[in-house]
Amino acid sequence: MTINQAVVDEGIMQIPSWWKCPPGYEELQTKAHEIGKTELLPRTSLSDQESRYPRESLKAIAQAGYGAVTIPAQEGGIGAGYMGFAVLAESFAHYCSSSTMCWVMHTAAVQTLYSAGSPEQRQRFIPGVLSGEVGALAFSEPATGSHFWNVVSSAPRSGEGYLLNASKSFVTSGGEADWYVVCTNYPDSIETDKLMFLLVEKNQEGVESFPFSAMGLRGNSSGPMKFTNVFVPAENRLGSEGGMNSYNDNVIDPLFLLGTSACWIGIAQGALNAAIDSAKKKVHQDTGKSVSGYQVIRHELAKAQILIDSARNMLYRTAQGMDECSEKGLALSSCLYPLWELKTHAADIVIQVTNQALQVSGGRGYLTGQVEKYLRDGRAGALMGPTNEILREWVGRTLVEVPWFE
Ligand SMILES: Cc1cc2nc3c(=O)[nH]c(=O)nc-3n(C[C@H](O)[C@H](O)[C@H](O)COP(=O)(O)OP(=O)(O)OC[C@H]3O[C@@H](n4cnc5c(N)ncnc54)[C@H](O)[C@@H]3O)c2cc1C
Repeated sequence: MTINQAVVDEGIMQIPSWWKCPPGYEELQTKAHEIGKTELLPRTSLSDQESRYPRESLKAIAQAGYGAVTIPAQEGGIGAGYMGFAVLAESFAHYCSSSTMCWVMHTAAVQTLYSAGSPEQRQRFIPGVLSGEVGALAFSEPATGSHFWNVVSSAPRSGEGYLLNASKSFVTSGGEADWYVVCTNYPDSIETDKLMFLLVEKNQEGVESFPFSAMGLRGNSSGPMKFTNVFVPAENRLGSEGGMNSYNDNVIDPLFLLGTSACWIGIAQGALNAAIDSAKKKVHQDTGKSVSGYQVIRHELAKAQILIDSARNMLYRTAQGMDECSEKGLALSSCLYPLWELKTHAADIVIQVTNQALQVSGGRGYLTGQVEKYLRDGRAGALMGPTNEILREWVGRTLVEVPWFE
């Protein structure tokens, strides 16, 4: 190849495709963008304006074959590993943050059910999610806030099951999901920790959900939930009576951190694409220049793109590391450190980039619409658990070689 072959179209530099998509995942990425354009984008504004849960969009994602992407292909997954999950989440998020976030949390819930569940439980719940049923994770509690691994609720034994009483502060897909993995304590546990996961189905007596009124991700239905004297039969316990903390480090956090990071990066790219488009189209009659004709604007666009690409490279490198761990049979907890750095960075840059995108878009960016929505949606990243404050502390502790967890 000659040097000039890389530069076509009158000297316009072409960005190599491998910079935006890990090699081998181009087809998956193209499909995800098609779903984004045809299914997610048309519904996203209404979902935001009316805080409407994106059920049809989630159904469309499941119908395309992405209802349980991370489980083995022979059981309904797509055989594309964590890389495939990250490619899908990043691509979907360009078009609708709420559906993407609900889908990411759903995927983490499905993987938890798959990893901790019995063959009978898989048989009972996996076919449903392949045709569009939704799972959710009910962990965070008002009593312990960001420390979602330290829940105070409990579910003692009651006959052939457990009596669950729990107050949850935020549950994505709350009141909309078909089933919930509820994290609670089993008070009489003889395991090293008392954490127990119970599968609660949506219409069970004693389950209440409350509205989600928020700055962004308004279609998410991430409101509080209450479980009052909910009887959960023993056959709906995932794993053991207590001792489930290891699933936080090996299943839930890895999936959640990877998927949400992909989501923040996709939101940032979606916002920047919209800003680039508007900067090219808007022309000032007095100077005859487009907004993109001003060097200061181009520098702002460049700074934003470099931030996104720094996070995207971390995303795909981390997903690759997770896939390598799985192939070698290593625990995913060995990937937590890069995941902490990744999530902190992705959630930081989405705030910066969506802000830059709005600035470049001028007053039009501030009007109710696509760009300000990206900014509101992306702002949730740093607050969602593990929060950026907590993650930076864990990274810092690791750097000075003291235990990350107290
Ligand atoms: C849109 C959205 C969706 C969510 N979805 C879910 C879900 O599906 N399931 C679920 O279980 N949870 C969910 N959450 C909850 C989320 O994971 C966090 O637990 C929650 O946002 C923490 O909020 P809080 O008000 O309890 O924070 P607080 O704990 O009150 O924290 C307040 C501030 O203190 C900081 N802080 C807290 N502890 C420490 C510490 N040890 N060191 C340093 N700083 C600290 C925090 O970073 C934050 O800045 C969701 C949250 C949001 C916003």
